[in-house]
Amino acid sequence: MINIAIVGSGPSGCYIADMLSKKVADAQVDIFDRLPTPFGLVRAGVAPDHQGTKNIVRQFERTLSRDNVRFVGNVNIGSDLSYDELKQNYDVIALTIGALRDRKLGIPGEDLAGVYGSGEFVAWYNGHPDQAGLNPDLNSSGIAIIGNGNVALDIARILAKTSSEMDSSDITAAAQAAIAASPVQDIYLIGRRGAVEASFTNVELSEFGELERCVALVEPAQLPGSLPDDMDPKAAKAIEKNLETLRSYAINMPDSKPVRLHLMFCASPVNIIGDNGKVCGLKLERNTLVDGRAQPSGETFQLDVQTVIPAIGYRSEAIDGMPFDETRGIVKNDEGCVEAGVYTAGWCKRGPQGVIPANRADSMAVAKQIIADLESTPPQGNRAGYDVTGPLLAERGVCVVSFTDWQTINQAELARAENGKPREKFTSVEQMLALLN
Ligand code: NAP
Repeated sequence: MINIAIVGSGPSGCYIADMLSKKVADAQVDIFDRLPTPFGLVRAGVAPDHQGTKNIVRQFERTLSRDNVRFVGNVNIGSDLSYDELKQNYDVIALTIGALRDRKLGIPGEDLAGVYGSGEFVAWYNGHPDQAGLNPDLNSSGIAIIGNGNVALDIARILAKTSSEMDSSDITAAAQAAIAASPVQDIYLIGRRGAVEASFTNVELSEFGELERCVALVEPAQLPGSLPDDMDPKAAKAIEKNLETLRSYAINMPDSKPVRLHLMFCASPVNIIGDNGKVCGLKLERNTLVDGRAQPSGETFQLDVQTVIPAIGYRSEAIDGMPFDETRGIVKNDEGCVEAGVYTAGWCKRGPQGVIPANRADSMAVAKQIIADLESTPPQGNRAGYDVTGPLLAERGVCVVSFTDWQTINQAELARAENGKPREKFTSVEQMLALLN
């Protein structure tokens, strides 16, 4: 038997499990996750009001139900089992641990109360147990979101929607209530470069044209008249669509709805201003663009905000003993190869870039490499996989959550949903484990 361990049950891990469990003869695939719940960012990162994107879990469920695939939930690699113990007991390891930690802006005031990284904020409204206790202070008339990616847009939209607009989502009841109670009037979405350089996509940008209580605004002078002639036609088409949407926002009336989303370009935060340890403003510097790069102009201005959410990307978290690139915040790897028998895929391999289909392609490439390596250097067959790690976990008193256990948790979440919501997530591991006894 070829014993394969996958660490992390998000999309990248599930795609690798799918291919290896089908294509490697006599494979046993064990997918470890530190949470009792599988699917990683599909559950805790994809916006709760984008339920269509979450449908991919049906495919992942089929993979996890396969006879030669075992979900090993509630097991933390690094504390419950060490990385070395995995290496001793598995023929192949794939590290698909994602990127959970927020990148920092590195400016004064970042530690003030009222500053929440996008990772922790998104995890909070999505019910990730790590952030269930975040309780962000949203008693703010102004909220600044830094960054021009789709994560920044997701956060702005979730803050801008009414509670009834969120009833078809699986946002947690606590987050839904906290956002509904916020007196927010002005949400600022701030890009350090221009509208042309923004990385958000048009489907997400257009959603702001259809919100009940929020109107999207942009200063017409911030939009370019035309794109450079030498631009790649595919990129130009996508940017032109964004510009078209932004132009339609530029003629919106600020007073037409009670909440305003201000799309602001070419500005970088220089200082988060505090009063008694709490955010009371944000100082920004206008940028000019030189060859597509932001250059500070020396001209500053201030926004009246009480909450600041940097949405500027993520880092992975190192597991003890695992080769790690501290500068980039990723698993150290060469085209997905980490060390003999160890591979990596997804955001922890490449950095936090790309939607689920991009991670599928990446996982497929790494799985093919694993298969080629297994064919050229067949394992000796003396690594016993779960026959060793299972008893080790039991000895250590770890309550392993199986795929059947997850189905019990899943059914309970579906059953307790109210107001037409698709599910009401449990936000603590203890709540989930209590269902299994
Ligand atoms: P992203 O698309 O890379 O956006 C990060 C943003 O942060 C960029 O605008 C970047 O500006 C800015 N930034 C970085 N450092 C900064 C700094 N020091 N000061 C000011 N701004 C800074 O990343 P993301 O939004 O976190 O999304 C991650 C991935 O998930 C992306 O591939 C995204 O498409 C995907 N995603 C997709 C969806 C969806 O399809 N609905 C939803 C969420 C996420 P520069 O461009 O100037 O570097």
